[in-house]
Amino acid sequence: MFGWWGVGLLCGFRAQGRARGWLLASSACRHCSSAREQHDSGPPDLYDVVISGGGMVGTAMACALADDPNLSEKRILLLEAANKKADGKLPELHSNRVSALTPGSAAFLDRLGVWDHICNMRYKPFKRMQVWDECSDAMITFDKVDLSEDMGFIVENDVILMALSKQLAATADRVHVLYRSRAVKYTWPEPHQLPGSKPWVQIELADGSKVETKLLIGADGPNSMVRQSANIQTVQWKYDQSAVVATLHLAEPTDNNVAWQRFLVTGPIAMLPLSDNLSSLVWSTSHQHATDLLNVDEETFVDAINSAFWSNENHSEFVATANSMWKTAFAFLMPSGTSARQLPPSVARIDPKSRAMFPLGLGHATKYVGPRVALIGDAAHKVHPLAGQGVNLGFGDVTSLSQHLSEAAFNGKDLGSIEHLNAFETERQRHNLPIMAAIDMLKRLYSTKSTPMVLLRSLGLQATNALAPVKDQIMAFVSK
Ligand SMILES: Cc1cc2nc3c(=O)[nH]c(=O)nc-3n(C[C@H](O)[C@H](O)[C@H](O)COP(=O)(O)OP(=O)(O)OC[C@H]3O[C@@H](n4cnc5c(N)ncnc54)[C@H](O)[C@@H]3O)c2cc1C
Repeated sequence: MFGWWGVGLLCGFRAQGRARGWLLASSACRHCSSAREQHDSGPPDLYDVVISGGGMVGTAMACALADDPNLSEKRILLLEAANKKADGKLPELHSNRVSALTPGSAAFLDRLGVWDHICNMRYKPFKRMQVWDECSDAMITFDKVDLSEDMGFIVENDVILMALSKQLAATADRVHVLYRSRAVKYTWPEPHQLPGSKPWVQIELADGSKVETKLLIGADGPNSMVRQSANIQTVQWKYDQSAVVATLHLAEPTDNNVAWQRFLVTGPIAMLPLSDNLSSLVWSTSHQHATDLLNVDEETFVDAINSAFWSNENHSEFVATANSMWKTAFAFLMPSGTSARQLPPSVARIDPKSRAMFPLGLGHATKYVGPRVALIGDAAHKVHPLAGQGVNLGFGDVTSLSQHLSEAAFNGKDLGSIEHLNAFETERQRHNLPIMAAIDMLKRLYSTKSTPMVLLRSLGLQATNALAPVKDQIMAFVSK
């Protein structure tokens, strides 16, 4: 999850130079019937913006639009196929799906008033990151002097979604939300309007009701129907890896303020703090190994995790010697550049039902926008979780698109016009593409045991670790 160092190293320096509706939150069925009643009795309801997909990114988009005074007169609808996440009490057990949020994402959620809700539920800041290689002693750490600042935050996805929904409910008169409402068909306006043809995007819902919108925002995840229906091409491939997740109980309580990631030849394994004695596992490995890990008994699973973090059986003598000479040279040139290596905590047991696996892949929409449509979040780009960037990139999309829509509304322009949508696309592709390329390259760089490659990446890692200004640049870039 924390190949951030490499992501920043590979792309940070390039970027440096450029450098109302109603909220009917209570009963989903009531929403559906009220929508149906309206449509039975007249033409489809017309919205200024419809967001299709109320995951973390789509709901954040709804909050951002609801929060903007320039959009206060606009009619906005959020459609979500699933049920509303239950309000109120947080489950006692931590969820196995978590996100590492950057300080930039936390600041974005804070601006929306969402971060306070997260703080009142559950989250864990971490103050240090340690990333190291299975095949050598090479490692990199990120922290601030005296561990004075948080480097990021581990938050359960359900907590993020509950906090966003709570904030949306607080803007009750601004966004109409329909849960259990799957969009099943989109009809696009003709490029050249003929008399009688519809100028807006038509959306048909699974219950047969219809709505129209001047701008459709696709936040409907990696298999986005909005993207497919708008005929936007995607560059995509499946990785030879699946991610195994689980909630881990540590052998003994600690400050647990370090996020650990080790690059194994089979894929990266990460242990992310959830509390003093709990951490979350994200272990990317071959599909077969992932299936085996899901099926072995709990004790064998725990042994496999501890061994993955601790075993040195794939160390190369030659690389170790070269590394040690390199380290000595750097220590001479940069006496205070590096932090000491720490040992990760050992795992005692797991939450019994927390093991699950997810196939991994990369996907990138060649265009994020089209006439009256914009894509955000995983609908536009899906990345390997090794750098913990997926939802952070999605929140960046929300920040950018909401600013462009706000400006368009302020200037009295049509929200669906391609002019400002193009500006959003350019801005986000400039940010997202180098990060995606770097993540993909890291995945490949660390999937080999070949000595020259191990040597190359180990020396690169050690050098980066020794150069404090370089590390600061990396953190600044990927924390946005
Ligand atoms: C193992 C793992 C670990 C990860 N760790 C991190 C991390 O540490 N940090 C990080 O930043 N990212 C991480 N990610 C990535 C992150 O989880 C995703 O980027 C994020 O969930 C994408 O959110 P989204 O809202 O764009 O899409 P989704 O979460 O896929 O949400 C899409 C929503 O659209 C709804 N929908 C779909 N179709 C329709 C329709 N036709 N009509 C109405 N609604 C519809 C769905 O029900 C869903 O709620 C990780 C991913 C994995 C697999």
